[in-house]
Amino acid sequence: MVSSEQTADALEMEVNVAPRDTVALEIARMRHSCAHLMAEAVEELFPGVLFAIGPAIENGFYYDMEVSRPITPDDLAAIEANMRAHQSAAEPFVRNAVSRDKALELFAENPYKVEIIRELPAHEEISTYQQGVFLDLCRGPHVESTAEIGAFKLLSVAGAYWRGDEKRPMLQRIYGTAWKTQEELDGYLHKLEEAQRRDHRRLGRELDLFSVSDEIGAGLILWHPKGAMIRFLIEQFEQTEQLARGYDLVYTPHIASEKIYQTSGHLETYRENMYSPMSIEEVDYYLKPMNCPGHIMIYKSQVRSYRDLPIRLAELGTVYRYERSGTLTGMLRVRGFTQDDAHIFCRPEQVIEEVTRVVDFAMYFARIFGYEVQAYLATKPEKSIGSDEVWGRAEDALRTAMEANGVDFKIDAGGGAFYGPKIDVKWVDALGREWTGPTIQVDFNLPERFDVNFIGEDGDRHRAVMIHRTLLGSMERFVGGLIEHYAGAFPVWLAPIQVAIIPITDDQIPFAREVEATLVAAGMRVEVSDQRERMQAKIRNAQLQKIPYMLVIGKREVENGAVAVRLRTGEDLGAISVTEFQEIALDKVKSRSVELQG
Ligand SMILES: [Zn+2]
Ligand SMILES: [Zn+2]
Repeated sequence: MVSSEQTADALEMEVNVAPRDTVALEIARMRHSCAHLMAEAVEELFPGVLFAIGPAIENGFYYDMEVSRPITPDDLAAIEANMRAHQSAAEPFVRNAVSRDKALELFAENPYKVEIIRELPAHEEISTYQQGVFLDLCRGPHVESTAEIGAFKLLSVAGAYWRGDEKRPMLQRIYGTAWKTQEELDGYLHKLEEAQRRDHRRLGRELDLFSVSDEIGAGLILWHPKGAMIRFLIEQFEQTEQLARGYDLVYTPHIASEKIYQTSGHLETYRENMYSPMSIEEVDYYLKPMNCPGHIMIYKSQVRSYRDLPIRLAELGTVYRYERSGTLTGMLRVRGFTQDDAHIFCRPEQVIEEVTRVVDFAMYFARIFGYEVQAYLATKPEKSIGSDEVWGRAEDALRTAMEANGVDFKIDAGGGAFYGPKIDVKWVDALGREWTGPTIQVDFNLPERFDVNFIGEDGDRHRAVMIHRTLLGSMERFVGGLIEHYAGAFPVWLAPIQVAIIPITDDQIPFAREVEATLVAAGMRVEVSDQRERMQAKIRNAQLQKIPYMLVIGKREVENGAVAVRLRTGEDLGAISVTEFQEIALDKVKSRSVELQG
């Protein structure tokens, strides 16, 4: 936490910077100073504006404000120009400590600042920062002067509720980005443009993969046939791999009685993320927020001996968790999702081996989907259960497992859950962005709460160790991320339609149907473009749908029993026999390659 802002800013602060990460602290300070610079410009152009909070965020900053007329994207250029003038003037940032009464007097006209001041703890020193004539309530720190702010650009205007609360006033928020150099700024803007081009919500619509319906409800994903095909193929792949790696597949119900969530502690510690209960014969039932309790009950359905362990229970488990409507984003942040969840029950001495196998599994998936990885080892937080010795052993196990797989990792000191350490693996996508990937969590809590045990060699009961793990995370978030990673151009094995057959005239439709039948029999997903459109239009359409292969069939191809192969990349493979094409395509499916030829 940067803690360079007054309380409200700190709450909204979206960047998490470790206190020792001086480079990140420095850039956050510069970005926050740029927010002040923007506020200075806005105040000059929109007299009477009331500012709320203006924190640094990842890659930039924002400031929330109440303005008499809506600010539009067209206003941003004028605000930017004014910011540049104040930047050139090299106005120093001047800090002043003020008494609480003085602060209330200075900001008496601004109900947002007054609210912030009133909430500040009594012992806290209150300070203001001023550059030029612009005065702001702020804990700082700031750069020395506006000249030290680097290259910046204002990006967008959005509505934002005060304190994120829909019952409070709607403010206007201007987002901006700031970097040390123009070159870094240009690089970031280019990446942003590319990210917009790849946005899974846009591609999801254009490629007909999924939708969200107001009538069904926010944050609930409808998988259309093509999106469902992608998901099915990934699930099928994962289930097959799990069976090969000694997992057992299970299914557990979507609702469960309050009893289980009392035992698990979810009602105590996780309730704000759960939906209201439904009453069934006077017992409260909840939509499940996690799959763990169900798997534990399966484990406990019989006495387990040390010889039975490890037991690895895997489920594509659909869970429901409350997310505020303002935070819902396409497939990435939703209210119902399916986890590729598994729980491994083992003896303490098996932990290293089991975690090593999971890390290996995770790295295999990274290779298949073409992600780079960044791994983190989250260690013991301040508030936790279990002795230092037990934690130390578990952390060592996680560390050893990553080292055994040659995985570089960073330490997320104190980032573990209260009930055990974990490995967080981030997928690093084609644009260098990090996505939530596999998590592997050792748990000391639930085995105690549920008395999860096994009979040891000595005939006594021993506490089993429980490892929670997801590899893809949730199918929604994973496929959403994958759409952006591949920019919608899925590799052949995942493409919902792999081949578009394009007859040039209606005369070639019968042969096109023959080719279709041959490829379908070989297990391929094929579509014949038999609409009354010109060939060029059909090709363009197949390309927009990012179908890997287009087989163009004219008079000559029918005569020679051949197909003219065109790739979605625009390359031509020329006319080849159907058998030859089938070999190329099936090879790409089998190898799960991202290539289309060669
Ligand atoms: Zn400030
Ligand atoms: Zn779990």
